[in-house]
Amino acid sequence: MQYIPKVEDISPPIIIIMEEINNYINGELIAPIGNKFIANLNPATGETYAQIPDSEEADINLAAKAASEAAYQWGKSTIQERSALLLKIADLIEENADMLALVETNDTGKPISLSKTVDIPRAVANLKFFATAILHTTDRAHISNENLLNYTKRHPLGVVGCISPWNLPLYLFTWKIAPALATGNTVIAKPSELTPATAFLFSKICIEAGLPKGVLNIVHGYGDKAGATLVAHKDVKAISFTGGTITGIKIAQACAPHLKKVSLELGGKNPFIVFSDTDLEKVIPIAIRAAFSNQGQICLCGSRFLIQKELYEKFKERFVEEAIKLKIGDPLEPETQIGSVISQAHAEKVLGYINLAKDEGGNLLCGGEVEKIEGRCSDGNFIRPTVFENLNANCRVNQEEIFGPMVTLTPFKDASEAIELANYSRYGLAASLWTDNVNLAHQFAANLKTGIVWVNCWMERDLRTPFGGMKASGVGREGGIDALHFFTEQQNICIKS
Ligand code: NDP
Repeated sequence: MQYIPKVEDISPPIIIIMEEINNYINGELIAPIGNKFIANLNPATGETYAQIPDSEEADINLAAKAASEAAYQWGKSTIQERSALLLKIADLIEENADMLALVETNDTGKPISLSKTVDIPRAVANLKFFATAILHTTDRAHISNENLLNYTKRHPLGVVGCISPWNLPLYLFTWKIAPALATGNTVIAKPSELTPATAFLFSKICIEAGLPKGVLNIVHGYGDKAGATLVAHKDVKAISFTGGTITGIKIAQACAPHLKKVSLELGGKNPFIVFSDTDLEKVIPIAIRAAFSNQGQICLCGSRFLIQKELYEKFKERFVEEAIKLKIGDPLEPETQIGSVISQAHAEKVLGYINLAKDEGGNLLCGGEVEKIEGRCSDGNFIRPTVFENLNANCRVNQEEIFGPMVTLTPFKDASEAIELANYSRYGLAASLWTDNVNLAHQFAANLKTGIVWVNCWMERDLRTPFGGMKASGVGREGGIDALHFFTEQQNICIKS
C-alpha cells in the first residue's frame, strides 16, 4: 500500500522509520500552518523516529472550517452509506493489521503481542460495531391517542471533538470517532502527542477508503495547545474525552460556558477483591494480567489488590512468584510480556511512587527498580513489575493513580471491611471481584461504587455495555447505545391529525 512506512527488516529487530507525520484536514495531509514540529520518540529505545505537527489555533480553525462545511452533507447521508464507509475502513485496518501493530508498538513501547492481539483487533471491532449498530437501532414513538402521535428523531450534533490518550492509541481513538461518524457528525480528533503514529496511518486509510473530505480531521499537537483550542472552539458542539482526571476537569470547565455536551472517561484506582473461597490457580493468571498488562497503563488495571485474610499469604506467594517470572524486554520480541512505559517522564513518576511507598512504610515484595535491557533498548524505560504490601488504605500510594507496573496487596477480614476498602477512593471506574458465592457477588457488586464490576473475570468486554466511571473516574458512559445517544440530539415531534 502507498502509505506503508519504510520497514527495514534487520532481523531481529524490525525498525520502523516513519515519514513526517502531518495533519489530516479537509481530506488532505498537510503540514501545520506554523510549520513547527515535535519530536516523536520510541520510548523503548529513546530514539526520535518521527516529527509530528505542533498544531496551533490556525490549524484547529482550518479543521473546524472543513468539518463545518462537510457537516450538512455527511449528516444527510444514509445510515447505509456511512456504515459501508466505516466497514471499508475497518477492512483496510484488518488488511494492514501487522504493520499497524508494529507501528503501535514502536510508538508506545508495548509488547508486540499486545498490539497484535488487543490494540489493532479492537480498533477493527470498534469500527465494525458502530458501523453495524446504526443499522439496527429503532426510534421511539408515543401514540398519545388516536389523533396524537409523538415521535422522537435523533439528529447529529454537527462538529464534535474527540480527544484520546496514549495508552491504547488506535483502540481508544476509534472507540470515539466510530460512533461520532456513524451517527452523522463530522469530527476533529486530537490523538495524544506521545502516540500519533497509528492515527496518522488511519488518516491515510480514510483517504484510500474514500471518506469525503472534512468528515474526519485529525490535528496533532500538544494537549494544552491544540487540545485546549479544540475544546474551546465555538463550532465544536461536543467533546468526547478520555484521559486523566485533572485534564478532564479542565475540559469540563472550558465546555461549561458554552453548554457543550461533554463525555469524560478518566482515571482509576481499581480494586481487585479476592474472597477466600476463590480457586487460587484460576485467579492468579488473571490477577497478573490485571496488574501488569500494558505495563499497568490501562485505566482498567487493578492497582489495589484486596485479599481475604485466609487466602492472603498463599495469594501473595503465588502472585509475587508469577510477577517475577514476567518477561521484560524488547517490545518487538514476540515473547516479551512487559515492555517500556510510555516515556522517561512517566518512568520517573512511577519510580517516585516506588520511593514514596517505601517512605510510607510499604514492604517491597518484588520489583521496585528499572530493568536494564541490552542492545537497542538500552535507553528505554523499563520498570520491573512491582508489588508492595503493608500500606494503609489512605496513604498516597493507595489513593493516587500511578498508571504503571506497581500494585499493592492488602488483607481484609470480611465483606464489610472489603467494601469499605474497595470504595475508599476518589475514583470509581472498575472493580474485579472473585468469589464462588453468587449471593455475595450480587450484594457486593451492588455496593461497589464503580461503573464496571467484573465477577470472576477482568476486562471481558461486550461493546454493547455501558462503559465509564463514577466519582472522579468520569461523567457519562461510552459504548453501545450510550455512545450513539451521546453524539445525537433528540427532537420530539408531536403531530395531531
Ligand atoms: P491526559 O489527560 O494527559 O491526556 C489525554 C489527552 O488529552 C491527550 O490527547 C492530551 O494531549 C490531551 N490534553 C491534555 N491537556 C489537554 C487540555 N487542556 N485540553 C484538551 N486536551 C488536552 O492523559 P494521558 O494521555 O496521560 O492518559 C492517561 C490517563 O488516561 C490516565 O489517567 C488514565 O486512567 C486515563 N484513561 C482513562 C480511560 C477510561 O476509559 N476511563 C481509558 C484510558 C486512559 P497530549 O498527550 O498531547 O498532552
